[in-house]
This record gives sequence, C-alpha cells and structure tokens, in this order.
Amino acid sequence: MFSTRFLDLPPLVSASGTVRLPGSKSISNRLLLLAGLSEGTTTIHALLASDDTQVMLDALRTLGCSVVLEGEAVRITGLGGRLVAVQADLFLGNSGTSTRSLSAALAVLGATQGGRFTIRGVPRMHERPIGDLVDALRGLGCPIDYAGNDGFPPLRLGDGAVHTLRLDAPIRVRGNVSSQFATGLLQALCLVAIEQDVVIEVVGELISKPYVEITLNLLARFGVAVRNDGWARFTIPAGSRLRAPGDVHVEGDASSASYFIALGAIAASREAPLRIEGMGAQSIQGDLRFVEAAQAMGAHVVLGDRWTEVSRGRWPLQAITLDCNHIPDAAMTLAVMALYTTGTTRLTNIASWRVKETDRLKAMATELRKCGASVCEGADFIEINPPLAWQAAVIHTYDDHRVAMCFSLAAFNAMAGSQPDTAPHALPHGVPVRVLDPHCVAKTFPDYFETLFGVASARLQDIPVITVDGPTASGKGTLASAVAKALGYHFLDSGAVYRATALAAMRVGARADDEQHLAQLAGHLDLHFTGTAILLSGQDVTETLRLEEVGALASRISAWPLVRAALRTLQVSFHRLPGLVADGRDMGTVIFPGARLKVFLTANAATRAERRHKQLISKGIPANIDSLRAELELRDERDQTRAVSPLKPAADAMLLDNSALTIEASVDAVLKAWEQRRPFG
Ligand code: C5P
Repeated sequence: MFSTRFLDLPPLVSASGTVRLPGSKSISNRLLLLAGLSEGTTTIHALLASDDTQVMLDALRTLGCSVVLEGEAVRITGLGGRLVAVQADLFLGNSGTSTRSLSAALAVLGATQGGRFTIRGVPRMHERPIGDLVDALRGLGCPIDYAGNDGFPPLRLGDGAVHTLRLDAPIRVRGNVSSQFATGLLQALCLVAIEQDVVIEVVGELISKPYVEITLNLLARFGVAVRNDGWARFTIPAGSRLRAPGDVHVEGDASSASYFIALGAIAASREAPLRIEGMGAQSIQGDLRFVEAAQAMGAHVVLGDRWTEVSRGRWPLQAITLDCNHIPDAAMTLAVMALYTTGTTRLTNIASWRVKETDRLKAMATELRKCGASVCEGADFIEINPPLAWQAAVIHTYDDHRVAMCFSLAAFNAMAGSQPDTAPHALPHGVPVRVLDPHCVAKTFPDYFETLFGVASARLQDIPVITVDGPTASGKGTLASAVAKALGYHFLDSGAVYRATALAAMRVGARADDEQHLAQLAGHLDLHFTGTAILLSGQDVTETLRLEEVGALASRISAWPLVRAALRTLQVSFHRLPGLVADGRDMGTVIFPGARLKVFLTANAATRAERRHKQLISKGIPANIDSLRAELELRDERDQTRAVSPLKPAADAMLLDNSALTIEASVDAVLKAWEQRRPFG
C-alpha cells in the first residue's frame, strides 16, 4: 500500500494482463454481520481485507463473537441472537455499511435484551445521515439517543432496560436517502420475527435497489427467505432464524472491477485484453451492471461466469446520458471515462453521491475540472465535457477511496483524442496525475495502485528516475531510500548489487583479478530485494553485505568492465512504475543518463569516516576512525580513477554537500529540487 502523502502517476499508455479483484465490500460486511448474529459457525473465504471490514471484525469481537483467522479464511461463531456483551462502545471509522447495520442490530438486541451501546465513527461519519433509520427503530420502541447532532451518529442505543417491540404494524422507513437503512432493518428484524411476520414498508422510492438485493440474497443463504413486494414492502416470515451456512465465498468486488473495466475500454487492445478475475455473469452485485454502461460508452466486453475480459471497442469513447440510480458507486467511474469522449456525458439520479464518504458530486466536479474538463454540477446530476487541453492535475481525494481510484484513469490522457489504433509510442505526450493521500484506497482496495501498475504501462522515458551518486559513506543510501519512500518509488541500492557479486565471489573462492569468472557470477546472480531484506540464492544476506571485507572486495571487482556490463540489465530492471530512486556511483552518468534529477552527494572525508565509525560501533563492531578514513580515501581514489564508469558528478547533477546537514535537511533539499522539476504548479 502507498502510505505516501501523494503518488504521482506518470502518463500511462496501455494496459493488458490479469487482475484479481479483492472481495466485495458489500458482501464481506453483510456476511460478517450475519455470521456474527446467527447461530453456528460461518467460515468466510476471500473476505475483503480493508479498513471497512476491519472495523466490523473488531466490533464483532467486542460484542463477544468468536473470530478466528485461518489462513485466508475467517471463522466466525455468532451470537445466535443472544447478547454476550450487554455494553460496548464501538468505533466504526468511515464505514457506512457497518454503522447502519450495527446500529439497527444493536438497537433491536439492546432494546429486547437490556443492552446499552454507543456507535461512533470518524468526523465524516458524524455528517452522514442516519435519522430515517433511527426514526424507524424508535417507531418500533427501541430507545435511541443522538450523542452529537440530531439525525447523525454518534448514537446511544438501548437504555439497559428490556422493552417489548411493536412488531404488529408495518415498520416504515424512507428509501430515498440510503438503501443501507432498509438493509439494516432487514438484517436486524430477522432477529425478532419469531411469533409473527415482520413487515417493512419503504416510504418513497427505494434507491440503490441492487444493494438491497444483495442483502436479500445473503439473508436467504442464512436461512431467511424475505418476501419482496415490488421493493416497496418486505415481509420477514414468522419463525425466521439466522443460521450459519457453513462455508461461504466472497466474490470479487464489482465496484472495484469498474476501474479495470474502464481501464480495458481505454487502454487494452483486442489482441491483449485486460482480464478481471473474480467477477463475471454470476455475480450477485448490482455493480455488475456497470458493464452495460461501459459497453454503451464503447467497451468491448466478454463475460465469463467468474471473469470478465475488456478491451477497446469504440474510440474515442461515446458520451452517454444515463440514470445511474442502479449503480451509484460505479457511476463515478463513468464520470472519468467521460474525459475520453468527444461529447457531453450526463449522469443523473445520483443525489446519494452527496452523502457518501464525501460530497462526491462536488468532489468529482472539482477534480474533473482540474484535469481540464468543463463540468456542470446539479443537485442530483453531473454533466461532463472532455478537456480541450489536459492539465497536470493534483487530485484531492477527500478520504474517499473511489475518488482516488477513479482519477488514476486520468493518467491515460495521452490517448485522449488519438486515432483508434495509434501505437503507444506514437501517442502525443501526456501529463502526469498527482493523487493526494493515496492510502485512502485501503477502505476497499489496499493494493489498488500496485494492481494498476501490474497491468498498466508507460513509455520508459516517462517513468521518472532520480539518481543519487557519490563517494562511499556519503549517506547516499540513506538519502535515496528516504526520497524513494517519500515518493512511493522503487529504490535501487546498486552498491548492494556489487557487494552481492563480491559475496558470491567469496563463496566460490573466485579470484579478484579473474574478470571473466567474476562477470559470469555477476550475470547469474540470484538476487532479490524484498523491501526489507536482500536475498542471495534464497538466503538473507542483508547484514553480511554490509561487512567491510565485502565492501572492499566490491570496490575492487567493480573496476572490471565485464562485471559492470553483466550487472547492467539487473539494475535497469528497477526502472518501473511509478518511478525509481537509484543510488550508486554511476547511476546518473551511465545506468540512467536520462534521469530527471541527478544528485551528487558528498561530505568531507573526516565526516564520512566519523559516520561510518559511529555506524560500526553501534552494531558492536570494533573500528578505528583513522584506518576507516584511510580505507575510504583509498576507495574514493579507486572509484574515481578506474577506466570504466569512474565516480564523478554527471554534467547536469545537483551537487549536495551534506557534511553539515541533517538527513532530514538533505531529504528536503532533494524533494524540493524534485518538485521544481514537476509540472504541478
Ligand atoms: O555503495 P557501496 O559502498 O555499497 O558500494 C560498494 C562498492 O561497489 C563501492 O565501493 C563501489 O566501488 C562499487 N560500486 C560501483 N558502482 C555502483 C555502486 C557501487 O562501482 N553503482
């Protein structure tokens, strides 16, 4: 997951391959709640691992359910409708499904069994309406107080006394603000439809019906067959009991699929379509119908039972006018697809966008405009005309996962207005897109950007490289890895590549002057960087590589031209999306001469020897400053005078002497220089 402050997406030009979707959020959270309320044990496979499911799992544990993680599965033994904890304070983050569903269930259980619960969330959750659900529950006789503002969480549910609910008359709930109110009531009232039928009547039109359909479908899996009379009246039959269904599998998230369906429609060719595993014709999620909307805009789609393949059909995409009530979440993706049309796209009946993770209508309009689109935003519609000139946009994400995922698609802007079959390398230059707070995707799709980078490609020259070269012990490794971390870029420690070659040579007893043998070892290094460890032939050598004798041998063998040539491909392979920070002696001069920012880091020999000394002593390795200084001066000399790739600043390098700088100050200086080279004004 990217936990950086922002993530810059370089211009992207094509997509192909296979993505596996994370589990459906709607199904995961409903299954968790139903498993927690039901009798018996449910084993949930392929549960979505995300912020929203985590808060629900934590809540179930607090309420006394047994929750056991077994490999990829979660085994939950439910309450069987009987409260274990009669008091609890639950924090549910920004999860609308968890908040609405648990509020309903705990209001009913609390009222009938003398419980007392508090439900809270993040500040945005306290702005998301819940009044219609509270009114319906109060109408039944459940004591509920608003702990903050009327109509919004936090809520206090139950007063510790036992109440008899009024179940003989239909329970009325408004349907036009959030379908989660109907879902919450349906799930909760299954617990009390014992002696009589319980009827829920929807007042006004029920929005987002497909989400209620998922609820009905899953209730049936737990043994409760609700009668649905035209989405206006639901009857839970007397004698209903939630019973654990045993093993259940969560299908891929159809809303998450929408980004990849759009991606295929924008950037995948018919010969190499984008394949999406985990969602297909058998999906029970309403957002499956996003496929029809995408087809209307020009996507070429092949639907299997549990997979979907998408490629470009029509190009540019076709502008559409669509009532999106049935696909409120996925419809946001259509708004970004509209950037790739030549006409006006109008999405209507989306007033519910205003009460989601953020006011999505306002958010989408604002961010689409930043890309250059002209946008008209109404109370319940949005109208989008594609940009005449694309801007390098800094996308604010409003703690809304869908805004972040949607706008990643704007990175394909080089393709807008291109001929249908233009080869990627012949496209005009695009502009990058900056997504602020990219970690917000964790709500439903923690690995979204990694998944995107797994299937999207950019022209190599568009993928940024920052090089940090300099002499030994100048602190380039520390600086480069900190810069990489701040930007979410890959990090190449090229010194480690030479050190690993030296270690491999030591292990087989290769001579330091046997260039051929050393080059052969270098060309066959089985070397992997895992992020935290360096593995050589499967063995963790992170610490061993730092030994002085390994460094000394690395310095000697790195003078051989054949060794340097043999290690080139491995180093160049780090040049991948979304970008790279490479540290070494010849990164800016030889390996990545086209790097956008080249830093040459130095510090005087005394400072470097002191730093190395401190480092060794802190690891309990005895060391002597004078001999360290002599050794590093010798190494500088060798690196600077060797015939191939001698250590020297690239002509266009930024020189940074950090003798008197803290690490933070050096990192800031480099990040500032980088920002000046970016197009985000
Ligand atoms: O940077 P580090 O001390 O880990 O590098 C070990 C040795 O590998 C250096 O002393 C240098 O001689 C060599 N090296 C190189 N070119 C690089 C990186 C390291 O010659 N790009």
